[in-house]
Amino acid sequence: MREAASRPPTFPGSTMDFDQFCRFARRVSRAHRIERGARFRLKDHDPRDTGPLGDEHKPAAREALEDGREALAQLQDMLYAQDRWSVLLVFQAMDAAGKDGAIKHVMSGVNPQGCQVYSFKAPSAEELDHDWLWRCVRALPERGRIGIFNRSYYEEVLVVKVHREFLAAQKIPPALLHKRVWDERYRDIRGFERHLAANGTLILKFFLNVSRAEQKRRFLERIEQPEKNWKFSAADVTERAHWNEYMNAYQAMIRETSAPHAPWYVVPADNKWYTRIVVAGAIVDGLSRLGLHYPKVPRAQLAELAAAKKALLAEKR
Ligand code: ATP
Ligand code: MG
Repeated sequence: MREAASRPPTFPGSTMDFDQFCRFARRVSRAHRIERGARFRLKDHDPRDTGPLGDEHKPAAREALEDGREALAQLQDMLYAQDRWSVLLVFQAMDAAGKDGAIKHVMSGVNPQGCQVYSFKAPSAEELDHDWLWRCVRALPERGRIGIFNRSYYEEVLVVKVHREFLAAQKIPPALLHKRVWDERYRDIRGFERHLAANGTLILKFFLNVSRAEQKRRFLERIEQPEKNWKFSAADVTERAHWNEYMNAYQAMIRETSAPHAPWYVVPADNKWYTRIVVAGAIVDGLSRLGLHYPKVPRAQLAELAAAKKALLAEKR
C-alpha cells in the first residue's frame, strides 16, 4: 500500500491491463472534459499542460498508449458485434496542432473495417448546393462503427466566422442572413447532436489546443526538414494573422456546444505524447461506459452450433 502511495497519483505504471487502463483513462481525460461551457475560458487552459505527468513519464506514457490501443481494439470489437451504438469523434484544431498524428497513433490498433476517417476541406460546388450540415450527415458512422471527423460542421462557426467571405459563398438566401447567424448555427449544432445522441451515437469532441509559439516551431520544422516540406502550406502562415479571432471563435464554440452527451475535450497540444494519451483515454473512457458486450446467442442457435460442430467432427477429412 505504502509503495502505491508513493507513485505518481494518477499514473499506475507502464503496463496496465484492461481495467487498469480504463481507470487511468478516466483520470487522465476527465481533467480536460467540458460538459457545461457557460463559464469556459480558453485562457484557463495551458497548451503546455501535461496534467499530473512530467517529462520523466514520457516513456511510460508511450507504453500506456500501447495499452490504450489494445483496450480500444477490444472495445471496438464489441461495439461492432453488438451493432447498436455508433461513435462520432470530432477533431478540430489550428494547423500543425497534431490532429493527423493523434488520429493515426490512437486509432492504429483498431480494425479498419469498423472505423472511417473523413477529412472535411473547403466545400465543393456540390456541397455548397446543400445546407451546411449535409456533407457531414452523409458521412455519419453507422451503428457498430467509429466515425472520425478530421474537421467537421464546426468549421461553420470557426473558419466561416473568421472569414465572412465564405459565408457569402454559401448561396444562402440573403433574407436569411441576419445578425444572429452564429447563434442560429450553435443552436442547430446543439439540436443536431442531441438528436444523434438520442439515437445511439456517442459523441466525443476534441479541440487540440496548441500555442501560437509551438505552431511557429512546428511550421519552421516543416520548412527546414525536407521530408516534412509536403506538410507545409504558405497559406497556413497567413492564417496565423487571425490567431486571436480563431481563439475567440473556439472559445465561443466550446461555450455554446458543450453538453454531457457531447462534451468537448480541450486537449493540451504542445506536447504530442500527452495529447495522444488524453485522446486515447477519452475514447476508452467513453466506450467503456456504454456497457458493451458480445451479443448472447439465443438457445435455439446454440443447438445449431452444437449440431454443426458434430457434423464437422464427423467428416472423414
Ligand atoms: P493538413 O493541413 O494537415 O493537410 P487540413 O485539415 O488543414 O490538414 P487542408 O487541406 O490544409 O487540410 O485544409 C482544409 C481547409 O479547409 C482548412 O483551412 C479549413 O479551415 C477549410 N474548411 C473546412 N471546412 C470549411 C468550410 N465549411 N468552409 C470553408 N473552409 C473550410
Ligand atoms: Mg492545413
